[in-house]
Amino acid sequence: MAKKKVVAIGCDGIGPEVVDAACHILQGANFNLDLVRCYGGDEAISKGLEPFSEDVRTQIDGSDAVLFGSHIINGYPVLMHLRFTNDNYVNMRPVKYYEGMNSPLKDPKGIDFVFLRELSEGLYPGREGDLEDLARRLPDSVDRSGRKLTDFGAGKYAIKVISKKACERMAKFTCEFAIQRMKDGYPGKVTCVTKSNLFLETDVLFEKTIEDEVKKHPELTYEHYLVDNMNRLMLIRPRDFDVIVAVNEYGDILTDAAAEIGGGLGLMGTGGFGGKVPYFESAHGAAPDIAGKNKANPTATVFASKYMLDYLGMKEEANSLEKAIAAVYKQGDSLTPDQGGTATTKELAEAILRKIR
Ligand code: ATP
Repeated sequence: MAKKKVVAIGCDGIGPEVVDAACHILQGANFNLDLVRCYGGDEAISKGLEPFSEDVRTQIDGSDAVLFGSHIINGYPVLMHLRFTNDNYVNMRPVKYYEGMNSPLKDPKGIDFVFLRELSEGLYPGREGDLEDLARRLPDSVDRSGRKLTDFGAGKYAIKVISKKACERMAKFTCEFAIQRMKDGYPGKVTCVTKSNLFLETDVLFEKTIEDEVKKHPELTYEHYLVDNMNRLMLIRPRDFDVIVAVNEYGDILTDAAAEIGGGLGLMGTGGFGGKVPYFESAHGAAPDIAGKNKANPTATVFASKYMLDYLGMKEEANSLEKAIAAVYKQGDSLTPDQGGTATTKELAEAILRKIR
C-alpha cells in the first residue's frame, strides 16, 4: 500500500503536547505513514511563524488525513479550515470503556457506543447580532408564547440553522455507519437526539429525516430521545446504545459527559468525516489550566490516531494501537493525574509505544 500522508498540527493549549505524544507513538511503531509535523495557532506564533500560513494550508489540502491538537483563538482558523472549508460534516465520537479507565460509574464494563455529531450547522458557529436589529428586520415574528422580537428590548440573538441537505447527508452517513458496525457484531441501533418538543421546525426536520432514512434499512432499529432525557439515560443505562446521532450543539454538550462515563475527557478521540480531507482530534479542548506542564493525558489523541489508521485502511496498525492502550490501562502504572496516576504525558505515550513493540 502506498504511504499515506498525515499532517499533524498542534496549535493551542495542550494541543502540541498531545499531538507530539501521538506522533511519538506513530513514528516509534514504524507505521507506514508519511507523517508531516506542521505548526499553527499559538505553537506557530511561539516559533515566529504565522498562525495559519499558506504553506500549512497547502500541506493539509494535499494530505490523506490530519491529526489536530486543540484550539483557543489563534488555532481557530485552522480548525475552521478542517471543519468548514473542507466540509467535514460529521464528527464521530466513540465512548468505550477499557478496564482501568477512571469512569465514575459503579459498573462501566461493556460501555461501547458511538456518537455521530452533526458538525456543519445548528447553533454553531455563532450567527449572532443585536436583538434590536433582528426585531427591525422581522417585526412580525412571534415565538410560540406569542412574544414579538420587539418585546425584549436591547440584547443579542443567535440563529440556529438546520438545512435539508445537512439532515439528509447526516442520515445517510448514520445508516451506513450503523450497518458497517453490524459487521463487528453491534446491534444496528440508531438513537436520534433532538429537542423536537421545543424546536418544532428545525429539530423535527432533523429527527424526521433520520427516522425516514433508518426505515429504509430493515436491518436497523430506531429510537428517539429528547436531549435532556438522553443526558440521564446515558448515565443510568449506558449499555443500551449503539449509534447515537445528534444535532451539533447537543452532540457537543452530551459528549463531554459521555467521555466521562467512558473514563474521562482526556480519553475521547474523534474523527471528522464527509469532506475533502478527514481530520482526527480529541473531544477535549485546549485545557489551558494544564498546558505546558507535561501532565495532559494524550490518550484521546492516541485514540484519534487509531480512528485515523482505521480510516486509512491500516486495520492491523489500528488494532495494535488499541490493544496497546487497553494493556496500559489494565496495567495501570503509567497513567496521568486525571486517571489517578503520576505519569507525565510523555511517560504515558512511551508506555503505549512499549506495548506495541
Ligand atoms: P472546549 O470548549 O474548547 O471543547 P472544554 O470546555 O471541553 O473545551 P477543556 O479545555 O477540554 O474544556 O478542559 C476541561 C477540563 O478538563 C479542564 O480542567 C482540563 O484540564 C481537563 N482536561 C481536558 N483535556 C484533558 C486532558 N487531555 N488531560 C487531562 N485533563 C484534561
